[in-house]
Amino acid sequence: MVKLAIDGGTPVRKAPFPEWPIFGKEEEELIVEVLHSRKWGGSNRNKLPDLEGKFAKMHHSNYAISVVNGTLGITVALQAAGVQPGDEVIMPPYTFIATATAALMFGAIPVFVDVEEESLVIDPNKIEDAITERTKAIIPVHIAGASCNMPEINQIAKKHNLVVIEDAAQAVGTEWENKRVGALGDLGSFSFQSGKNITSGEGGMILTNNQQFAETAWSLSNVGRNKKGAWYQHERIGWNLRMTEFQAAIILGQLTRLEEQFQKRERNAYFLDQLLNDIDGIEPLPRDPRVNRHAYHMYMFRLSNEAVNQVKKNEFIERVNGEGIPVISGYVSLNQNEAVIQETAKWLGEERTYSCPISERASNDQVIWLQQRILLGDEKDMEDIAKAIRKVMSSY
Ligand SMILES: *Cc1c(COP(=O)(O)O)cnc(C)c1O
Repeated sequence: MVKLAIDGGTPVRKAPFPEWPIFGKEEEELIVEVLHSRKWGGSNRNKLPDLEGKFAKMHHSNYAISVVNGTLGITVALQAAGVQPGDEVIMPPYTFIATATAALMFGAIPVFVDVEEESLVIDPNKIEDAITERTKAIIPVHIAGASCNMPEINQIAKKHNLVVIEDAAQAVGTEWENKRVGALGDLGSFSFQSGKNITSGEGGMILTNNQQFAETAWSLSNVGRNKKGAWYQHERIGWNLRMTEFQAAIILGQLTRLEEQFQKRERNAYFLDQLLNDIDGIEPLPRDPRVNRHAYHMYMFRLSNEAVNQVKKNEFIERVNGEGIPVISGYVSLNQNEAVIQETAKWLGEERTYSCPISERASNDQVIWLQQRILLGDEKDMEDIAKAIRKVMSSY
């Protein structure tokens, strides 16, 4: 009988996995350059326009507007597209809470539509049933760096006159059928928060191909100014949601390493898929072949339908952690988050409930994550992960 590390056995691994963030000379030089330039932000912008230009170009987008973070990126995108308090916004429940709080920030109402079993992104076949006359927008979330089916979602949106705001916080560089996500809907929002695939600690970016949306988004995040207007000319209520030049400098440095890291994550994910496929009761999430580039912000796998009868997710995680592998549990399905339920009820004046069995099962019983930094290790690291999971599964 195998002796698990949590029972006093020898752990599969003691060595740490790669740390995140990764930085180098590029970031150092750019930060010092910003420091000495005395252009640190506000109206003194040099690195920010450079970053916006590069980011737009790499996502084949006409406009990019940098903002303080990915949450407010979504809020600004919703408002730029004309979403008002009380309007309903369709989104998946299997996502970071910010997707919902971005709407709730100004009283727009999250409406949860369950995800696809295989990919855990919003299920386009369930969207139309959730549309009411208050629906104004859909937020597809490119979860873990996988892509939603954007052509299908855009078609539904067009038919019902809705705007599509992509939450691409986890999907820098992802492609659906050779098209970069983030500028495939009406607007898209990215995040540079500390755990994201490129990071400046905090930060965000809005993309759009629509000039009107771009101007409004810029104005909303620049205290209601008009880009061509005077400094104290405020034409709407907006806020200071700007990034600093230091953050832009760091992201410009990070971008020099993005492609190399992207390919490494994909290679390791592919290898890990093969290793985990060989373990009874463990299933890597199948990758839709239309996602021809996957950012792997997370690597996800699940306990099979049969395995969950015996293997409790939290116990499994504890045992694998004991073997030296930092697997984590991931999101609580947002339709089951009490804070989201209560805040929504506050704006609506009544409580609403949603049944999202696939998202709930993923979150409560089946789906387990490895963070993107783990995929920056070598083949031996992936083998250790599989070895530990195999060992733990054999203990049942
Ligand atoms: C990180 C993240 C956000 C929020 O971005 P912040 O920069 O942390 O505000 C929104 N949605 C998803 C899916 C995220 O992963």
